[in-house]
Amino acid sequence: MVGLEALSLQGLPIDELLLTRETEDNLADLAGNAMSSTVVGTCMMAALILGKDMLDVDDAKVEDEDAMEVDKTTSAKAEDISAHIQGEKQLVKKSLDLSTTTNCSLLELLTLAERSARLCECEGRRGVTTRVIRRCVDCGSTSCEKCGGRPEHNTQELRFGTDVPPRVHPSEFEKFFTSTFPMCLTLSGVKKSQLEKLWEKLSVEDDDEEAFWPKWRNAVVEATNSEFRFVELKRQEVWSAVYRSPMGSLELALHPKQPEWRLFARAKDSEPANSDLRKVLESTAVARLICKRDTSGVAKPGAGLLEGQWEFALPHRTDLKLTIAGVESEDEETRPALVPSWESKLGLQADEFKERRVYSQLRISVDEDSEACVLERDIAGLYTLFDRCGTANSGLHKKEPTADEVDLPPLYFFLDPLRCADPMEDPYLFSISKIRYEFGETRPIICTLDPKWRQITAVDGKHPTVDAHVLSVWSKSKEVALQVCPILLRVSPALKGDFSNPLMRRMPLSLSRPRTSPSTPPLQDVSTRAQFWSVMSPLRTKLDRNGRGGLG
Ligand SMILES: [Zn+2]
Ligand SMILES: [Zn+2]
Repeated sequence: MVGLEALSLQGLPIDELLLTRETEDNLADLAGNAMSSTVVGTCMMAALILGKDMLDVDDAKVEDEDAMEVDKTTSAKAEDISAHIQGEKQLVKKSLDLSTTTNCSLLELLTLAERSARLCECEGRRGVTTRVIRRCVDCGSTSCEKCGGRPEHNTQELRFGTDVPPRVHPSEFEKFFTSTFPMCLTLSGVKKSQLEKLWEKLSVEDDDEEAFWPKWRNAVVEATNSEFRFVELKRQEVWSAVYRSPMGSLELALHPKQPEWRLFARAKDSEPANSDLRKVLESTAVARLICKRDTSGVAKPGAGLLEGQWEFALPHRTDLKLTIAGVESEDEETRPALVPSWESKLGLQADEFKERRVYSQLRISVDEDSEACVLERDIAGLYTLFDRCGTANSGLHKKEPTADEVDLPPLYFFLDPLRCADPMEDPYLFSISKIRYEFGETRPIICTLDPKWRQITAVDGKHPTVDAHVLSVWSKSKEVALQVCPILLRVSPALKGDFSNPLMRRMPLSLSRPRTSPSTPPLQDVSTRAQFWSVMSPLRTKLDRNGRGGLG
């Protein structure tokens, strides 16, 4: 057999490969002597096709002499194994409370989160760099010395221990969070009737929105029907904790200035990929709870984090009119009114770009006729351009904080390109977050501008009225509450006999906790392995993190 034949037998497309320089030996070596999945897969398919008549679909119990022998896990066998276990009496019995939360104040948690957050992309989820970290005075982004420089920013070295508190290793924060925080939460009080009341208050007249509403409402109710279980802690510029239910997810973003819970609903699998409902649910949170930053003393288990009034983002579009005008400079030397636009900085030679200048400060106001009350933050004010701080088209503007905004996160105004669309469709928008998002993550948007708007120059500044819109209206609801859900588990006797797996034997077989309130959900009956694991996996995470369990 020549080398090419050996390759061909491995299922490799030899007519598509460019093999000219390799010797026969090289080719034979390339083919190797293992079996590739293309060959094995083909053989298996062939065997299945030939033998399909032997497979009895209706009755799986084929009493055939030629049938392959499969090990049966009989209860007798399981008992056999348990007889080998020794030293059980030496074990100390301890009660395992899986919904424990130790006391901690919200302030303590936020401080720890801030000190262990990621300061440079190169740190990833778990690392802490030893290089010098620099923070931008203008926009607040941080990066290490090696990764920084692009975009330029206006950076200053962060001296830990003197300017800012020393850093904490992320694993320490993870340990603290998982031992302090409940692994299972429920959102009670989300009912159709009650959402309907909120919707009626809006008195929507648009027929399309009326038709869309029931679908959205049902998705929200469905998302909160079952409990949310802890999935992961994500370390990014801010920490966030993710909880999931079959049809939704809860995200706790530990922003040092605005910690908040966001509820996302998931569209059903049967919903078309391009349906409006899917798009809306994927692009915005359906509800949120902005935690009260109650900084007083020791709170009850996560008290400040779970309490407060929930708000729903009712899907109702409001159109606004804004006035955006360039600000003339008082002192041209310290801050020129007009600075080179991104096109001219790039060196584009076309006449319209070559000498293009844009305003370095903008004054934005909301026209009186517009319903400014739908805006969750006051967007009117003075915005400064930070063209050295990145974002698309060097278009990052930051609002100069007013006296009552000192405690709130900074408000940005920038160009946010859409993932797959014509660049002409990319809108400028207002948001408290200017970071880049991964797929599946969403930016909280306060207001979006008409995509036609681009940075203004002295010439086109004469037509400063701009259309803008807000896609949802935040509406408060008193009845909704986030609660710790005690994990109650009763393993059915039938399942016990199935614990022949050594991993399973080490699991606590019954976990229960006294009922704390009438609203406590009933004991969950677990009768299949899949159900058992679906309940146990979040607990396992908790135990592993705490170093208390050894559940495999
Ligand atoms: Zn770095
Ligand atoms: Zn910056």
